[in-house]
Amino acid sequence: QAKHQGKNAYRFFGPELDTYAARRLRPEQTLRDAIERREFEIHYQPQLKTVDGNLAGVEALLRWRNPQEIIQPGEFIPLLEDTGLITQLTDWILGDACRQIAAWRAADFPDLTLAVNLSPLQLEQPNLADSLRDTLGASGLPPEALEIEITEHALLHAEQGQEVMNQLRRQGIRLAIDDFGRGHLSLAYLHRFAVDTLKIERGFIREAMTDRDSANTTGAVIALARQLGIRTLAKGIETPEQWHWVSDQGCDMAQGYLIGKPLPPDRFIDWATNQRVMTLESLD
Ligand code: C2E
Ligand code: MG
Ligand code: MG
Repeated sequence: QAKHQGKNAYRFFGPELDTYAARRLRPEQTLRDAIERREFEIHYQPQLKTVDGNLAGVEALLRWRNPQEIIQPGEFIPLLEDTGLITQLTDWILGDACRQIAAWRAADFPDLTLAVNLSPLQLEQPNLADSLRDTLGASGLPPEALEIEITEHALLHAEQGQEVMNQLRRQGIRLAIDDFGRGHLSLAYLHRFAVDTLKIERGFIREAMTDRDSANTTGAVIALARQLGIRTLAKGIETPEQWHWVSDQGCDMAQGYLIGKPLPPDRFIDWATNQRVMTLESLD
């Protein structure tokens, strides 16, 4: 019955509905097709320095645009990981994003940096460091302009993870711990590991606004990271109150909808050109 309806639907509504249904029925093949059809695109979200509101960098965030809708990564990254397709796609993301940022640096934003998320699986890829060196070389982006984001969990559980990360560090690529606070890594460990940036989860910032203990804890993490020479970035900044609070705590960078949502490249560069400096006042 379902099959029969699917066929009818295809006939009446064309290939779009077929894709939509297929995503549920044949997820792996649908993802392969989507890669083939170049339906994945990269959006960029700004990261600002809190000290002066200047644009410092961008985080690359993957989107899947099919004929019906734009699908967010939460819906398809796990499947890309399960099928191993994430490796192939990440090579493309890194290549495309490095070229894009190199172009923006050459045009108008000479110090712009790029952050890219890696899946735990990628840390098991023994040739990751070599492949990144090639990608950087081809794009002309200097290694110190690239920051690889991994979760605490991935760093702890990937068998080769720490060795691969060390190789990246030796090449001058920066390392950020995403989702900091969820896992069990101590700051001292991260320091020894030469982590450059801690990305503090949105929930911790949000809770700090209403709960004194949370505020103290998150404030202490920022202060200790600072003493260890690790940069901090507050994620999910949605209100001026949060922006002011993280700035006051000495958090180095901030990212969130208040500042800017992830945007496709052409719209991002419009935004960046018009809103090059976000002053504290302009956020109120
Ligand atoms: P993440 O690395 O923690 O990325 C931050 C997520 O928070 C993004 O969701 C972003 O759109 C969202 N966000 C940013 N500012 C705000 C805010 O102010 N409020 C709220 N509520 N959310 C905000 P997105 O783009 O849906 O990505 C979700 C996750 O998917 C990412 O979390 C990352 O773990 C993963 N992901 C995205 N792109 C890639 C990729 O290229 N490769 C891999 N391996 N994972 C990716
Ligand atoms: Mg991230
Ligand atoms: Mg997250």
